[in-house]
Amino acid sequence: MARVAVIGAGMGGLAAAARLARSGHEVTVYEQASGHGGKLGTLRRDGFTFDTGPSLLTLPHVYRDLFAATGAPLDDLVEIVPVEPTCRYRFPDGSELDMPHAEEHVDAALTDAFGPEAARQWRAVLTDAERLWDLVGEPVLQNPLNGVRDLLRRSASIRDLMAIAPWRTLRGVGERRLTDPRLRMLLDRYATYSGSDPRRTPALMTVIPFIEQRFGGWYVRGGLRGLGDALYGRCVDLGVSFRFSETVTTVESGGSGVTGVRLRDGERRPADVVVSDVDAEHLYGDLLADRRSHRPHRMLSKTQPSLSGFVLLLALRGRSPDPVHHRVLFPADYDDEFDSLFGRHPRPVPDPAVYVCAPDDPAVAPEGDEAWFVLVNAPRHGDVDWTAPGLADSYADRVLRVMADRGLDVRHRVRWRVIRTPADWARDTGAVGGSIYGSSSNGPRAALLRPANRAPVPGLFLVGGSAHPGGGLPLVAMSARIVARMIGPA
Ligand SMILES: Cc1cc2nc3c(=O)[nH]c(=O)nc-3n(C[C@H](O)[C@H](O)[C@H](O)COP(=O)(O)OP(=O)(O)OC[C@H]3O[C@@H](n4cnc5c(N)ncnc54)[C@H](O)[C@@H]3O)c2cc1C
Repeated sequence: MARVAVIGAGMGGLAAAARLARSGHEVTVYEQASGHGGKLGTLRRDGFTFDTGPSLLTLPHVYRDLFAATGAPLDDLVEIVPVEPTCRYRFPDGSELDMPHAEEHVDAALTDAFGPEAARQWRAVLTDAERLWDLVGEPVLQNPLNGVRDLLRRSASIRDLMAIAPWRTLRGVGERRLTDPRLRMLLDRYATYSGSDPRRTPALMTVIPFIEQRFGGWYVRGGLRGLGDALYGRCVDLGVSFRFSETVTTVESGGSGVTGVRLRDGERRPADVVVSDVDAEHLYGDLLADRRSHRPHRMLSKTQPSLSGFVLLLALRGRSPDPVHHRVLFPADYDDEFDSLFGRHPRPVPDPAVYVCAPDDPAVAPEGDEAWFVLVNAPRHGDVDWTAPGLADSYADRVLRVMADRGLDVRHRVRWRVIRTPADWARDTGAVGGSIYGSSSNGPRAALLRPANRAPVPGLFLVGGSAHPGGGLPLVAMSARIVARMIGPA
């Protein structure tokens, strides 16, 4: 049995803690915040409940597997329901597309909205994406990745590598294969699922719409936070110890590897194994003095950080006549958004794509009212000073105005609102600059530069959104599975 210290009670940390405790280790989780969940946060006030972070669950089977492997069925604990439609997209010309939850209805929906040729082109792109998923789904996402040699070993053939075509971009796929500008816009948007720029994200990212379409988009009744609560409960049942409001300041190591962690008050906690769920930039930049950590830190500095998010939580009076769970309102000039986020002079996006999550769930709002989560992509704190006086409020007003201009005016219904800026994400979750997904997927080598799950310091492992295989709820749980397998049973 090893003494395991997990730094961070985000979903990757909790998933690793549950798996390791289940396999017989003595696990303690150190979390700087007063509770669990990390970015999967919640806000409860005046009868309203908001998910402050994730609002869409994909690949729910990853969590079903995790719960099955650690003791009991997930579906006994939370109710996971399909989102129908997965999303309503509104394009700059005012046209709309309801993307159905069920894959078999996608063709008809696209044919109705954009005509049969558009539907055929979309199908063709996603059929190729299915092949890519077969190549990367199990072999790359579910296993450690240690550089290009690993990738070559995993790829069955040169043909596979040609199919992955890391030099090709998501934007390039849209331009070559989709003639309708609205479909190109839709494809571009999937780059933002990894916090990236479609003009630089590898074409491999077409697997994201494929996954959403094949496995569906899901909601957890009462809010996605319920998934985090269930996982925390599982950890407690398995005997994991939690130390909340405890910030780790150092990962201590000697010649043979990690020896423990040091807390802010100077207390030293010995450990045989340390699993870090914190932003890898924070781990390698702030917590580790060990020389062996210099190389991954250097590699990380070659990547471009992922974007952050500006969030509005709106307590709305009254009910919408046409409730839609997920909506995206596209801007006229999508490139201006990516220039604002990733260009030389980052700035809050003047006319952003707006994502709205409005759960039709009586558990999250007082009767007759609605709890809306509004998200726009935002540059990291540091690139923009999100604490500048007046900025957050005036930008929130702008976002509400943009929504109104695109046919979704709720300004007269706002009882109160809470704003979360990249500076809040940085402070509350330790994500450097408030980056949502660690490093972005910008550039052909981005996946290879993403920090590996095994650090060069023996006994130190990385889980969570900034490590392989990446950010998002399913991927961070996959990272935990990889690391639990590396550490092995007690
Ligand atoms: C606005 C927003 C919307 C999102 N939408 C979606 C979505 O719809 N679907 C989806 O799948 N994903 C979404 N995500 C991404 C998803 O939330 C994350 O990928 C995932 O929750 C991150 O988990 P993690 O394991 O990386 O840990 P994190 O959630 O990053 O948690 C890390 C934890 O470490 C703690 N910590 C940091 N430093 C220290 C330290 N020195 N000592 C002790 N503790 C420390 C932090 O307090 C934090 O609790 C969204 C994220 C955000 C912010």
